[in-house]
Amino acid sequence: MKLDGKVAIVTGAASGIGRRIAEVYAAHGAAVAIADLDLAGAERAAEAINTGGGRAIAVAMDVTDEAAVDAGVEGVAGQFGAVDILVSNAGIQIVAPVDQLAYADWKKLMAIHVDGAFLTTRACLRRMYARGRGGAIIYMGSVHSKLASPLKAPYVTAKHGLLGLARVVAREGAEHGVRANVICPGFVRTPLVERQIPEQAREFGISEEAVVKDIMLKNTVDGEFTTLDDVAACALFLAGFQTNALTGQSIVVSHGWCME
Ligand code: NAD
Repeated sequence: MKLDGKVAIVTGAASGIGRRIAEVYAAHGAAVAIADLDLAGAERAAEAINTGGGRAIAVAMDVTDEAAVDAGVEGVAGQFGAVDILVSNAGIQIVAPVDQLAYADWKKLMAIHVDGAFLTTRACLRRMYARGRGGAIIYMGSVHSKLASPLKAPYVTAKHGLLGLARVVAREGAEHGVRANVICPGFVRTPLVERQIPEQAREFGISEEAVVKDIMLKNTVDGEFTTLDDVAACALFLAGFQTNALTGQSIVVSHGWCME
């Protein structure tokens, strides 16, 4: 898969999964915008790509801020000349049982995952439609787009919701050559997951080792974490796919945890 001449915006790319996707896209020829709330982290990620011979810029973007998203996408299009690929990846996790979950926490998580996906999609679609050369929209879902776990009501709800958004964008985007798909990773050892291990150990009253072995990896086929490279390879495949044959789909990358 070559992405030569393509322009990609990856949200939440200062860290974890988004950062690796940005690196892999750049290594395959794309110019990449690292869009993140954490500007310093985004700048470090962009600098590492540029030092390695790739082409990247950092963009300060809170994906829940309509004006910031619109301005950020405009800025990228102005600088790189187009937007061909969006990876809507920015995300957080908040764990609590439903009966103890603060409404503010519910709304915060929904805003980042769902409002952020909508706002970034809308801004990029406008560019893609106007240019008339198609595009790829990729949402970072989760195994929790398909399955539920205790303590994760807002996350599971938001990740299920992204499947619906992707399917609508697939239908609307088809006539413009825009495809929309969802990647659904199992557990990947990023800061987002590292924070959950002690939190869940406390909530369930078990050891951190037990959280990893008996909760996170229990239903995989081999007891292995999914890796950053596993997810980035899938994101590369979806970005480079050429036709509407692959749109409105969700691909689960989870060591068999979920087979739906
Ligand atoms: P991470 O914490 O390493 O990175 C998340 C990034 O999102 C950070 O750089 C953070 O600054 C950014 N971010 C947070 N709020 C933002 C906002 N409002 N606007 C812009 N950027 C914002 O996490 P990660 O594990 O790499 O997660 C990335 C995505 O992958 C998330 O959507 C997450 O739900 C999903 N995911 C992760 C796993 C996993 O096991 N790590 C599994 C399935 C899905």
